[in-house]
Amino acid sequence: MEEVRSLKVINELGMHARAAGEIVELAGRYKSRLLLAKDGRTADGTSILSILTLACPKGSEIEARIIGEDARKFMDELERLFEGEFGETVRGQYRPKKRTMKGIPVSRGIVLGRAHHLDRSKTQIFHTKLSNRRELERETHRFRRAVDMAKEQIRRFKSNIPEQVKGYAFVLDTHAKILDDSLLFDSTIRRIRREKINAEWALERSVENIHQLFKTVEDEYIGRRMDDVDSVSERVLRNLAGVKEESLAGINEEVIVVAHSLSPCDIAEINVSRVMGILTDVGGRTSHMAIMSEALEIPVVVGLETATDMILDGDLLILDGNTGEVIINPDPDTIISYEAKRKHYNNYKSAIDRLRHLPAETLDGHKITIRANMEFLGEGQAAIEHGAEGVGLYRTEYLYMTRGSLPDEETLFDDYSQIARMVAPDPVTIRTLDIASDRMASDMEASREDNPALGLRSIRFCLSERKLFKTQLRAILRASVYGNFRLMFPMISGLGQFLEAKRILRSVMRGLDRDEIEYNRDIPIGILIEIPSATSIADILAKHADFFSIGTNDLIQYALAIDRDNEHVAHLYEPFHPAVLRMIHQVVEAGKNEGIDVSLCGEIAGDPLSVLILLSLGLKEFSMNVGSIPLIKKMIRMVPLRELRDSLRGILHLSTSKKIEDFVLKKARSLLPDIFEEDVLRYRATGTA
Ligand code: PEP
Ligand code: MG
Repeated sequence: MEEVRSLKVINELGMHARAAGEIVELAGRYKSRLLLAKDGRTADGTSILSILTLACPKGSEIEARIIGEDARKFMDELERLFEGEFGETVRGQYRPKKRTMKGIPVSRGIVLGRAHHLDRSKTQIFHTKLSNRRELERETHRFRRAVDMAKEQIRRFKSNIPEQVKGYAFVLDTHAKILDDSLLFDSTIRRIRREKINAEWALERSVENIHQLFKTVEDEYIGRRMDDVDSVSERVLRNLAGVKEESLAGINEEVIVVAHSLSPCDIAEINVSRVMGILTDVGGRTSHMAIMSEALEIPVVVGLETATDMILDGDLLILDGNTGEVIINPDPDTIISYEAKRKHYNNYKSAIDRLRHLPAETLDGHKITIRANMEFLGEGQAAIEHGAEGVGLYRTEYLYMTRGSLPDEETLFDDYSQIARMVAPDPVTIRTLDIASDRMASDMEASREDNPALGLRSIRFCLSERKLFKTQLRAILRASVYGNFRLMFPMISGLGQFLEAKRILRSVMRGLDRDEIEYNRDIPIGILIEIPSATSIADILAKHADFFSIGTNDLIQYALAIDRDNEHVAHLYEPFHPAVLRMIHQVVEAGKNEGIDVSLCGEIAGDPLSVLILLSLGLKEFSMNVGSIPLIKKMIRMVPLRELRDSLRGILHLSTSKKIEDFVLKKARSLLPDIFEEDVLRYRATGTA
């Protein structure tokens, strides 16, 4: 079949590249072949460059010839494209197509703005073989200089870091340390000399080698530290190439930044009043850049994979940092609906924010304590700003996972005394090391285990590595005089183990006495209850502990035999399983009978529906991720505790988590409609049973 028609170019800009692109895209959808002709010249409809050679300004007549089985349909659509002015408006402005993308939301908030590309593409590198000693010396020197420059750049970023992310300055220190790391620095110099290759190539090989080492690590958090290595080496490569990178500080219009990846250095120099949001192709929830952006309250979506290809400079964007959705060139209806969503979210957020420094007191006057879970020192400021009344769980693994060797006593003391001072007079519950040897970024001999969750980890590991354990305990005790510390041992499965840990603590105390070093000898000593055997003997343990904290993340895993990190069984991970609720209740009762404090620090403490259940079971102290604090506080201030307890009475007799969830949700909706009808709030869904 053949179709021939004469088509007129009526759009203001004529047959320019974008219009030609629309034709090529259309041609790609049909089997038939398109030829365009003007003034004796013929162009192939599948080539933009060929079409442009026809040189067709507004008013030109083109002959379109389509040959093939779907020629008629193809021609009709082509005609519509010409008549529709290739998507241009009457004023000659291009009206681009609306597209949506979905990434990983890492910092909340909704914004509408223009895209600004920031070139963070990888530096092109070439392989050069070196032929003589002089060249070897020159390459080594070039590499050393590029590394020194990188250190100086990082030092400058650090000295200008915005107030809100000052607590993260240590991330930049880590970058500086990576530059000195033997796996990166020494090994690159060795490669230059041994393999007689240029500095860029040698560095790339060293980074590849580090990638290989990290590949075996399944932990997402540690895996993400590879981002830090990449961003540091990229900085050195740019210095070697003499390329100056565009800086975020130079942006002086309100924009949404689109980049392949951003480093913590980028965030450290960000102009907060100009950068409205950030989109990146790569990255994950726990990247340092994500954590720092959250502290600056800049909405961010990462892991979009092709954002830098799909989005053009100047495109209008809607970025939803709550859902991870990105809309490129939205139509007016979408803009209006998002504007409403944005207002709703902002009102909701400011209502919550206004309350965050008020006490978490229920409507009928019961005082509830809300504390923060922290992974590392950098989160301290955010915890205070979000209204935490102290730190209910200070996880201490960070310093063991992120450096090349075991942290020494001074490093630990420095970190612990800072958090103690920052939070005082409120308490900090510091948890001793909860890690297995294979998770540590040190040269310690790691034994691979078939079943690490049931293996030599946490308190078991510490009891078998006395020296390491004692170093940490000594640092904690020394720091205890700077604030209000409580010490907690994780993964205690029986009384003997707890008493053993306390014996070691006492021997560390004696050592400090001998050295005449001050510490708080009355430091409360508690147990993280997270193994079913501990819940069963909670009454026995309570006689020997000063406090309990219930760690439901592990308790659920061990009670239900569900690997908490395995997505194949995630649907069976049921926080509301009757067995889990009964265990929690048993621990609360045991604590009450012995008159010791019981709090809960698992993830469910940050989930509104779970908190209602936990309040009804008698818990009055919660520790949660920092971001959840304002919302949970807001909810608690609306809860009539006595009425809640009455209406949830009998919950421990319900037979499945589904029945429990339905029951509590129904009550929650009638008691607190504002919270549970709110569409910005998503409560945790339990499993299917
Ligand atoms: C827990 O297990 O509930 C807990 C708080 O500790 P983590 O998540 O660090 O294991
Ligand atoms: Mg745990």
